[in-house]
Amino acid sequence: MHTPRPTPHAPSPLPQPGTVTLVGAGPGDPELLTFKAVRAIGAATVLLVDDLVGDGVLACASHTARIVHVGKRGGCRSTSQAFIDKLMIAAARAGEVVVRLKGGDPFIFGRGGEEVEHLQAAGIPVQVINGITAGLAAATALGVPLTHRDHAHGVVFVTGHAKPGDAGTDWAQLAATAHQARLTLVIYMGIAGIASIHSGLLRGLPAHTPVAVVHSASLPAQRHALGTLGGLRDLLAREGLGSPAVIVVGDVLRGLAAAAEPSQKTCAA
Ligand code: SAH
Repeated sequence: MHTPRPTPHAPSPLPQPGTVTLVGAGPGDPELLTFKAVRAIGAATVLLVDDLVGDGVLACASHTARIVHVGKRGGCRSTSQAFIDKLMIAAARAGEVVVRLKGGDPFIFGRGGEEVEHLQAAGIPVQVINGITAGLAAATALGVPLTHRDHAHGVVFVTGHAKPGDAGTDWAQLAATAHQARLTLVIYMGIAGIASIHSGLLRGLPAHTPVAVVHSASLPAQRHALGTLGGLRDLLAREGLGSPAVIVVGDVLRGLAAAAEPSQKTCAA
């Protein structure tokens, strides 16, 4: 006997002229976009696009849409946040259907919250569509559940790059908390400041704690390296894994780290 199928979900209304939609473009693989994101990208007449948003995602845009890259390109400094805000507001006031495409999830780092505040202050209707954040894609690339209950009670997404004037994370304290509370650490934007992150973490976590670095998660260029916290800086230097990368720290990696001993090898996906 057939079980009756549920009625299909009616799609939400498409973004309208005069509004801005912050869309999470996910970690890179276009197949990780949500349905909502694909529909919003397709409806946009103007897209303001961050650097880490790949061409596969942009292929969902209409051929007639204007695509404006507002990230660092070819070594240029990134477009200032104030200028991006101005562009979004001007385009919405001109009656465009504006999509602001942001890597990963718009509300995990990347200033999505500040953009929403500026748009609201200017009286522009704004909505936000989730994306898969890089830390989750990195964990899946490793085949590691960030909260495996044998090893972790939770997970912390933390940035290695604080805003100017902000002292940033107390890495030693965070490490001590992670150790005591059994939390996995997922560090975004941690490569440039690795020296101080590394020395801080070693003050609160044992040197044998497993670590992984995942570069370009979900993309064809994806690579990762495994090791221990004590050897993290050497691992990065040896394997040449640069940005975009996330660093995962914690016992959820234990099986993987053991498999990689003694050479702490790098794997191409
Ligand atoms: N909003 C984004 C994060 C923006 S901060 C998100 O939710 O994913 C930018 C940082 O994200 C990069 O410096 C890097 O640490 C990380 N990142 C973004 N895409 C990545 C990818 N495909 N693989 C690994 N790290 C990535």
